Amino acid sequence: MKCVFCGGETKKMLVTFSYEEEDRYFLVEHVPAEVCDRCGEKTYSPNVTDELLKFAKDKFKPVKKREVSVFDFAEAC
Ligand SMILES: [Zn+2]
Repeated sequence: MKCVFCGGETKKMLVTFSYEEEDRYFLVEHVPAEVCDRCGEKTYSPNVTDELLKFAKDKFKPVKKREVSVFDFAEAC
């Protein structure tokens, strides 16, 4: 496959998908995606996208919890 953004070659890989919506944030591990060699852009197939939407709708139970640190760039500089 070719990357739609830069035209680079993509490779099939398992990636961690992150979802963010207002105060909700979660990760889905081991998601199959096409990852661009050049710019790192991840492309998901329509089937995978459908599955990912189910996570957003709380259809599944999380397998583990991870603490997320939030930094403020403006505070650090
Ligand atoms: Zn690319």
